Amino acid sequence: MGGARKDTMHQLSRAIYRELAPLIREDDPARAAAAQQAVLSACEAATDRLVTDRYYFKNPSRWLFHEVRAYFPIDHQAQAFQTIRAYLRAIIRWIDENPEAATAGRHVQCRAFTRRGAPCQRPGLPRNGYCPSHQHLAETDELAAIAA
Ligand SMILES: [Zn+2]
Repeated sequence: MGGARKDTMHQLSRAIYRELAPLIREDDPARAAAAQQAVLSACEAATDRLVTDRYYFKNPSRWLFHEVRAYFPIDHQAQAFQTIRAYLRAIIRWIDENPEAATAGRHVQCRAFTRRGAPCQRPGLPRNGYCPSHQHLAETDELAAIAA
């Protein structure tokens, strides 16, 4: 059910945000609100990309940290990065274990092409971007990466 997926991914991005929000230090209320909104948006963007663009999203922790680091004082940045890394790892694990729940309601198209050269229309799994019928291509990619 699409609602269940949306709720879970939404809750996961909120969970990161709730850990990060207390690390923001901003005395001016308007600036604090803007910083909180920016951090929340970045957390949502990161969890969204983990579902829809996982294969090309090479270093999610660094990406999210880069997006939000300016909102934290220097002495909170290490904690912010550790929080981001721990949460994103847990979220990636959850997506890998619940690929259908994570992608339901979104179109994550398989990366493969058919013999006729048209893009495969089946949904790809978040883990590697290939649909169940094209999982052998993911193994080929891994072998190529190991060989390179
Ligand atoms: Zn496919």
